[in-house]
Amino acid sequence: MAPDPRATWPEEAGLTDVLGRPLRDLRISVTDRCNFRCSYCMPKEVFDKDYQYLPQTALLNFEEITRLARQFVAQGVRKIRLTGGEPLLRKNIEVLVAQLSTLRTPDGLPLDLTLTTNGSLLAKKARALKDAGLQRLTVSLDGLDDAVFRSMNDVDFPVEDVLRGIDAAQAAGLGPIKVNMVVKRGTNEQQILPMARHFKGTGIVLRFIEYMDVGATNGWCMDEVMPSADVVRLLQTEWPLVALEHASAGETAQRWGYADATGRHDTEAGEVGVISSVTQAFCGDCNRARLSTEGQLYLCLFASQGYDLRSLLRSGNDDAPLAAAIRQIWHQRSEQYSALRSALPADAASAVRRVEMSYIGG
Ligand code: SAM
Ligand code: SF4
Ligand code: SF4
Repeated sequence: MAPDPRATWPEEAGLTDVLGRPLRDLRISVTDRCNFRCSYCMPKEVFDKDYQYLPQTALLNFEEITRLARQFVAQGVRKIRLTGGEPLLRKNIEVLVAQLSTLRTPDGLPLDLTLTTNGSLLAKKARALKDAGLQRLTVSLDGLDDAVFRSMNDVDFPVEDVLRGIDAAQAAGLGPIKVNMVVKRGTNEQQILPMARHFKGTGIVLRFIEYMDVGATNGWCMDEVMPSADVVRLLQTEWPLVALEHASAGETAQRWGYADATGRHDTEAGEVGVISSVTQAFCGDCNRARLSTEGQLYLCLFASQGYDLRSLLRSGNDDAPLAAAIRQIWHQRSEQYSALRSALPADAASAVRRVEMSYIGG
């Protein structure tokens, strides 16, 4: 969809959308390719050898990404997350990290710059990413048991290599490191406690994500969702937990601290988080925009249509139309899919072909 350059918005207030939500968080997908085939994201049957990925010419180059990111920062973005597909597959990704790390907010502050990865190439890349200016990162890991992990990534990738990647990231000084585990009932719920035991007391924050109905290919059904409340109950069979404050507005995870004998948060033991994308919508303060690998702007993870910023970007060197387009698009944003999900008819998901998570990133 092309932005309408004639639209207007009130100049006086900070940029907010129809529901009063500011623009703070930009997720940039740097590739639509991945070396894993997690069934909840890029099932093998769909993402097979005949699958048509984006051609190289369609991809934004690093200068284009940085130019666009600068405009987003001027409009309120304070956090940038690189994602994909698998972002570490993008050649010389550390060059992009170095470019983005030079951006400053209007107050002169550096951005919160991070990246989400499956960890497969992290052992090789951690040091270069840190040297380029990356501060922290999130690693996706769905289990510790090698057989479970190999079957979930569906390319027989060993868990040991991801654990080595996490060690390398810690050794390089990247932090805080978060580990995200998607919980699929009947597939990896038996990995919840071993994962918690493994990361407790390491300074790494483990977060459990409800399996979501993103995209149109993963064959999602509610029976396979393990509600976060059940995850917390399971953790409490082994450790007492105390609820912690949200770290920041728009934060998606509910945080739980391991408690000491007096019932207070034991900071040495650390914390876990749950992301209840399905059972407890957090659209009310969703401040996230997503930029696809080819420069389409998406306003919601569940959107079926994006706004083409690449054409504007490639139509000239003037940044004013880009800034105007970003303001206009965000100002008209009303998306809140998860909050409305339960009110949607059961067949609504199949009625619209939603964009794939591997295309716009998590
Ligand atoms: N390849 C990288 C990775 O896996 O970390 C980055 C891209 S991946 C699309 C980003 C995040 O989305 C991952 O943490 C992944 O587990 C999560 N994800 C993908 N499909 C999901 C689904 N159906 N439900 C919940 N989370 C999902
Ligand atoms: Fe690849 Fe990440 Fe999707 Fe798994 S979740 S298939 S690692 S993009
Ligand atoms: Fe944000 Fe859309 Fe997720 Fe709601 S469903 S939290 S609007 S991305």
